[in-house]
Amino acid sequence: MMENTSDRSLIFERLDRIRDSMAEACLQCGRRPEDVTLMAVTKTVPAERVNLAIDWGIRLLGENRAQELCAKYDGYQLKRENIHFIGHLQTNKVKSIIDKVDMIHSVDSLKLAAEIDKLSAAHGRAMKILVEVNGEKQESKSGVYPEDLPGFLDELGQFSHLQVCGLMTIPPVAQNEAEKEKFFSKVFQLFIDNKAKKTDNINMSVLSMGMSGDYEAAIRNGSTIVRLGSAIFGPRL
Ligand SMILES: *Cc1c(COP(=O)(O)O)cnc(C)c1O
Repeated sequence: MMENTSDRSLIFERLDRIRDSMAEACLQCGRRPEDVTLMAVTKTVPAERVNLAIDWGIRLLGENRAQELCAKYDGYQLKRENIHFIGHLQTNKVKSIIDKVDMIHSVDSLKLAAEIDKLSAAHGRAMKILVEVNGEKQESKSGVYPEDLPGFLDELGQFSHLQVCGLMTIPPVAQNEAEKEKFFSKVFQLFIDNKAKKTDNINMSVLSMGMSGDYEAAIRNGSTIVRLGSAIFGPRL
């Protein structure tokens, strides 16, 4: 019991501190705190611990693995409307998550988009999606290259059961703080440029970037969803 009590208060304290830092980052750049959403990334964290974060006000969960989401879904105190898929998604796994998430952040191929569109149609609703951008063109990473983005968005506009809401990105791991700041600013510019194009059927309003180590810099550069795992739940074992 003792251990549970301290784990609970530790998660609450971490969330309080994160919210303070987020508010501070907003203040630094003249943004409103309510314009940035804190997502709790749940990978490897049991549902009971995820529910502690929900007790302390978390209203958005981020899921990396289809199988893990399916296993934990019934244990969560939040359901589909408050769950986003953020991990790399294989086409054959879309079926298992389509009725469990409200948005998919990691769309980076037409094949994946077509599958999401098809299954969403079968469920009688449109799926919100973000396009994952590979901002530094790293070969080892998934995501659409910046120069391919306008063409890709045009093609996504053809799908009647996809609602394109914006962009998501993951910075290269090896970057220092100054490089990360530059990276985020570059992706923000991409976001703004493609928003200005007003492609049919596309409403660019969400920019998903920033994790435990760099969320303040992401907020200063226009992020609207920060995805935090270890800063909330502690190091992953
Ligand atoms: C794991 C993960 C996060 C959270 O990482 P932390 O460094 O633990 O905050 C965010 N986004 C994605 C896509 C992830 O896989």
